[in-house]
Amino acid sequence: MTPPKFSARAELDRLTRYNSGLTLDDVAARAKGHPIAKLGSNENPHPVSAAITTAMAEAIARPNIYPDPSARVLADEIARQTGAAAERVILGDGSEDLLNVLARAVLNPGDEVVTLFPSFPLHEDYATMMGATVTRIGLTPDRRIDMDALLAAAARPVRLTLIANPMNPAGLWLGPDELAALLAAQHPDSLLCLDEAYVEYAAGPDYASGAERLAGHDKPLLILRTFSKAYGLAGLRIGYGMSNSDDVIAAMNLVRTPFNTNAVAQAAALAAMTHTEDMARAVAATLAERARMEQALAALGLRVLPSKGNFLFVDCGQPSAGVADRLIDCGVIVKPWKQDGFETFLRVSVGLDWENDQFLEAMARIV
Ligand SMILES: *Cc1c(COP(=O)(O)O)cnc(C)c1O
Repeated sequence: MTPPKFSARAELDRLTRYNSGLTLDDVAARAKGHPIAKLGSNENPHPVSAAITTAMAEAIARPNIYPDPSARVLADEIARQTGAAAERVILGDGSEDLLNVLARAVLNPGDEVVTLFPSFPLHEDYATMMGATVTRIGLTPDRRIDMDALLAAAARPVRLTLIANPMNPAGLWLGPDELAALLAAQHPDSLLCLDEAYVEYAAGPDYASGAERLAGHDKPLLILRTFSKAYGLAGLRIGYGMSNSDDVIAAMNLVRTPFNTNAVAQAAALAAMTHTEDMARAVAATLAERARMEQALAALGLRVLPSKGNFLFVDCGQPSAGVADRLIDCGVIVKPWKQDGFETFLRVSVGLDWENDQFLEAMARIV
């Protein structure tokens, strides 16, 4: 019997499947005994602290009990550390869950969403899924964020401006003055969402988180963060949002599933936030390695964009799909970029020293 036909929503025809890369097993089969350097997903490769594994073991010992649907203890700790109001903190099954919840909570068919380009694919995909239209703000010819275009777009009554700061994959970021200009330009009827997945790597005098502006901002603002990157909990799926708007949080709480974060992830995230020494060490090691990789790639004659994330966006000067494919044979996984105009770029995560060495040695042979 042939499988029966069924038509899903028309909007889905415009979506492509998320490119989550090859699995470790796929790569091991091709890497012929090389250890595998997994540099395609911006994970933190350093081990998490013992306090986190202990908290997880305690939480998993009671698998029959539903988790706290509002993750109250964790939300209170997030509020305490960020200055956000606890009742305007929302937890998600990864921040990608919150991006999905956000799209379903606020987007009507035909609404306009403004994003930066090259973009984190989910920022566009969930908007497309809801029938919204996406306006991309690209880079200038000298590969900086096009602030003039961004400010002009944000000043219009678009439904949602959704940008990652720092940007993924480009690694570029809005400095404090640029963030202030964006907040000032924002149209009062429009929601501004800052996806700060890499905030822990970006902290410093030339970067400002939107969190510091939440309390004093008089237009709707939402900030998304994750435990998947610097906190090293990508496998557990937990992230959070903070807003200055009761309406935004209420809408998202209506749309999310009640038990969207599991008990083990809640416990691990709380332990991660209260035992940050290992994370701080991992972030410092990553920043030092990022600088070393940037120099080594430049020495190969490759153009590398400045980055505030735990990754670099590298112009290979040739189609990056071919470069990434040859890197697999050397046991290195990276992400070749496929969006229009960036097909010569790859995104490489900053890994452990030996992983970065393996990548750099392979690149020297390939390019
Ligand atoms: C990695 C990433 C996320 C997703 O994080 P999860 O919490 O693991 O879902 C969200 N936004 C950006 C920009 C990212 O790079």
